[in-house]
Amino acid sequence: MPKNFLRHSLSILLCSLLILLNVSFQLAPAAQRRAASGQASQNKRVRLVVGIVIDQFRYDYLTRFADQFSEGGFRRLLRDGAVFSNANYNFSPTYTACGHATFMSGSVPALNGIIGNEWYDREAGRRTTSVSDSKVKLLGGKEGAPAASPHRLIGSTVGDQLRFNSNGRSKVIGISFKDRSAILPAGKRPNGAYWFDSSTGAFVSSSYYFSDLPDWVKAFNSQNKPDKYFGAKWERLLSESAYSRSLPDDSPYERSSYGNKFPYTINGGEATPGPRFYSQFEVTPFANEYLADFARAAIEGEGLGQDEFTDLLTVSFSANDLLGHAYGPYSQEVQDMTLRTDRILAGLFDYIDKKIGLSNTIIALTADHGVAPIPEHSRALGFGGRVDSRALLNSIEAALSKRFGEDKWILAFVNSNIYFDYSALERRKADLSEVERIAGEAALKAPGVAACFARSQIISGQLPPTVIAQRVASGFYPQRNGDLILVAEPFFLVGDSSTASHGSPYSYDAHVPVIFYGAGIAAGNYTVECSPADIAPTLSFMLDIEPPSSSVGRILSEAIKGKNHRP
Ligand SMILES: [Zn+2]
Repeated sequence: MPKNFLRHSLSILLCSLLILLNVSFQLAPAAQRRAASGQASQNKRVRLVVGIVIDQFRYDYLTRFADQFSEGGFRRLLRDGAVFSNANYNFSPTYTACGHATFMSGSVPALNGIIGNEWYDREAGRRTTSVSDSKVKLLGGKEGAPAASPHRLIGSTVGDQLRFNSNGRSKVIGISFKDRSAILPAGKRPNGAYWFDSSTGAFVSSSYYFSDLPDWVKAFNSQNKPDKYFGAKWERLLSESAYSRSLPDDSPYERSSYGNKFPYTINGGEATPGPRFYSQFEVTPFANEYLADFARAAIEGEGLGQDEFTDLLTVSFSANDLLGHAYGPYSQEVQDMTLRTDRILAGLFDYIDKKIGLSNTIIALTADHGVAPIPEHSRALGFGGRVDSRALLNSIEAALSKRFGEDKWILAFVNSNIYFDYSALERRKADLSEVERIAGEAALKAPGVAACFARSQIISGQLPPTVIAQRVASGFYPQRNGDLILVAEPFFLVGDSSTASHGSPYSYDAHVPVIFYGAGIAAGNYTVECSPADIAPTLSFMLDIEPPSSSVGRILSEAIKGKNHRP
């Protein structure tokens, strides 16, 4: 080795050492420890990420009720957060499982495989849910009750990447009242996911995560049963006149077995707490309060945000959705639920501030979907209505039988997906592409059906260049979707199983809040087009970790203080 090269190398080494020493002398002792522990590349200020989903929460809930929010809740986020006011899901269908899978994966159903809350499993010959798992056991609920896991979720999440990055030292926890909403955001290898079991009133999990519930969960369940809410009255938070922007309290469009008028007494019609009480409890603001209590217990019990390894807690509030389905977006009940969610969030934020410091925390808030007005409400105003799904399927069966001979052609109809019975096609020697065409033509004749996409069209990329077609393709996973996918016209709901619902590619279902708040966030209101799939890559960038495997989102650099942030 030439002498001058050696000398040169030595001087570089010396320089580097001096720079290192100099830098480390300037570091605060705590930061020094972090650097020494090999986490120098992680954004040191972020101790905890809290990912919040409000189930069925349209963007316009933030603006319609803005004057009625408290200082510490939504108003805090809207004032000091990065608020994206033009975020839309860019896939269809807009269902709970899909939105929750997107939230921390930055992907779409076409990549993460979560095409709905449920779908038809051809191999098993029956419907399956996005998280049901017969290979695992329920922990904390009834012995032998069905359990759940993320085994159908394809690819990684922010939580998974955090744990890769820290050799498992970052903690990742997901909680919700719904199993899918706890499980899917937490990802494939979190420390745990917990959901509410309405048959016992306990938070439960499954043997996918561990062989026994952690002590803090057992303690929470034994000390805090929701029984303290038994017989509680749910009244409007504000005076009656504050609700005049919504429909009358007892609007005829509302359909709920719990009545349609304030106040509501929460007892499930039972004399003592039992499954019917727990089921009614789930549809009240008390359930959100209870989930926030459980979030605090998780932070305490797991010691979240207490060390230099960034932890992730995902919290999904389900009560807003369960209520919204029965009362619709323009009800006083949904307005009050929104106002009370605001107060509950304020309490949770204050707690996090005291415990960990909001300046060391990033809060990312969104919704898994919005909701359409109740079809009868829309109809009264001259929009939409309901697609009669039975008549629709009968007309498709009739058209196919007319062409190929009498048979039963449709195996399943789930999420507006038609799954043909391939054995009928074989019996009748019917060509699949002709079956698709004839069925599609019949479907398009049904009132309220706007478009029909065939599996072969999507797989071969033969789609019309429309936004709707693109959204359907992004929501399509070949091994799980059906043969035909129907899209209703705006304000039309397929079927009559829910009073109000969602699932369409239209604004009222797709337009949701995307808000970041806390460490390193640049406050502002951003009207740039974006989607909830952008949340995961943005968080990944801020945390200096690799984005989730199937992330297709954009880094929302508008939200980041000092866009030239370096690791
Ligand atoms: Zn939902």
